[in-house]
Amino acid sequence: MRFYSTNNPDRLVSLREVVLEGLPPDNGLYMPEEIAPLPQAFLWDIERYSFQEIGYEVARNLLRDSLPDHIIYMLVEKALTFDAPLKPLREREGVLELFHGPTLAFKDFGARFMAQLMAYLVRDETRPLTILVATSGDTGGAVASGFYRTPGIEVVILYPSGKVSDLQEKQLTTLGHNITALEIAGSFDDCQALVKQAFLDQSLKKRLRLSSANSINLARLIPQSFYYFRAWQQVQDRSLPLVFSVPSGNFGNLTAGIMAKRMGLPVARFLAATNANRVVPDYLQTGVFHPKTSVPTISNAMDVGNPSNFARMLDLYGHSHEAMQKEIAGFSYTDTQTCDAIKDIYDETGYIMDPHGAVGWLALQDYRATAGEACTGIVLETAHPAKFLSVVQPLLGVEVEVPERLARLAEKEKHAIVMKADYTTFQEYLMSRT
Ligand SMILES: *Cc1c(COP(=O)(O)O)cnc(C)c1O
Repeated sequence: MRFYSTNNPDRLVSLREVVLEGLPPDNGLYMPEEIAPLPQAFLWDIERYSFQEIGYEVARNLLRDSLPDHIIYMLVEKALTFDAPLKPLREREGVLELFHGPTLAFKDFGARFMAQLMAYLVRDETRPLTILVATSGDTGGAVASGFYRTPGIEVVILYPSGKVSDLQEKQLTTLGHNITALEIAGSFDDCQALVKQAFLDQSLKKRLRLSSANSINLARLIPQSFYYFRAWQQVQDRSLPLVFSVPSGNFGNLTAGIMAKRMGLPVARFLAATNANRVVPDYLQTGVFHPKTSVPTISNAMDVGNPSNFARMLDLYGHSHEAMQKEIAGFSYTDTQTCDAIKDIYDETGYIMDPHGAVGWLALQDYRATAGEACTGIVLETAHPAKFLSVVQPLLGVEVEVPERLARLAEKEKHAIVMKADYTTFQEYLMSRT
C-alpha cells in the first residue's frame, strides 16, 4: 500500500513516511491510495472472528504489502488488549463502550496501535524520535500511556491550562520517564497551532526527529475502524439499516467509520454529533465550511473549532457536499441539553453515560424522530463516565463507580512545564532538549 496527501494525490509515499512524518510537507493529510472492500466471506462469517482477528483483517487490508502479515498480526495483538462491548440500551439501540482501555477513553485504541507501529518502524535506529501531541483532553493521556517507556521514543504533550479535567491532567502529567507535559496558557487550538508550526519549521527539523500523534496521524485512524466491525458483529438483527452516532471533535473517529464503510461494512448513516462547536453540522447543512474559535463545553474533548480530519472527509467524498450529506447527518447540542440527556438516559435505563456519549445519544434520538424507518442505532460511548465525575455525579445524585486504575491517579503528583502560547518559546524549549 502507498499513501498520498490530500493536498497532492500524485506524490505517493511509504507507510514509514506516513507514520513517522505524521503530516505531509504540503500541510495536507495522508490517506491510503486504496480502501478496498474486504472479502464478502469475512463479512458473512464475522461471528467466527475474535476482535484481534477482525483487527488483523482490517489492518492488513489497509496496510497491504507495507508490512509482513505476521508483523501486522503482532501489532494488532499487542495493541488490542481490551474489548469494545455493545451494551443494549433500549430496543434496537445500543452503546458501543470504547472505554475499556488503560485511560478509559476510545483514544487508547489509536494510541496503542500507533505506539506499536512506530516502535516497530524505528527499531533499528539510534536517534530518538520526538513525538509532539496537542490534546484537548483525552488524547494526551492515551498517547502518554500508549508510548510510556517505549524504547527510542520521547513524547511531548501540549495541553490547554485549566481546560482539561483534573484526572485528565493527571493522566498526562504523572508518568515521567519518556513523557513530558507542557501546560500551555491558551486554548486547544493554540496548542494545535504550535504543533503544526513546529512540523513546518525546517530549522527545528534539522535538529530533532519529529513526529505527531494527533488524530492527523493515519496510524491512529486505522485501529479506530476495527471497532465499527466489532460493533456490527454484536448486533442481533443485522437485517435492519445500521446507524452509528459518533460524538465528534476532530472527526478522526467518524473518518475511521467512513473507512470501515468503504471496506464493506453496511452502514446506512453516520451521525456527526457535536457540542456547541458545530462547524461540521453547519457545513452539512449549508455547504460552507467556516472554522471558528472553539468554545468550552462539558464535553471538552470535542471542543474543536477547526476539525483537523475534515480534509480527509472531504477527500473521501470527492469534495462533494451532496455526497457527504447523503451518508452523514449533523447534529449539535448545548450543555443544558447534554445534562438533560444524561438524566433521561439514567432515569429510563439505569445506564450512566458520560457527556460525550450523551451528545451522541441525543443525535440518535433526533435522527430517529425524522428518519421514518426502523434502524439499529449504535452510539459510540467514547469515555467512561468516571472521567467526568464533577458533571455526572451532581446530575444523577448517585455515586459513579471509579475504576481502580483511575482512582490510583488521584494520589500521584503532577509534573508539567508551564508555557505561554508563543511559538518562539516553544521552539526554544524543543531546541534545548537536543
Ligand atoms: C477525542 C474525543 C472525542 C472526539 O473524537 P474525534 O475523533 O476527535 O472526533 C469524543 N469523545 C471523547 C471522550 C474523546 O476523547
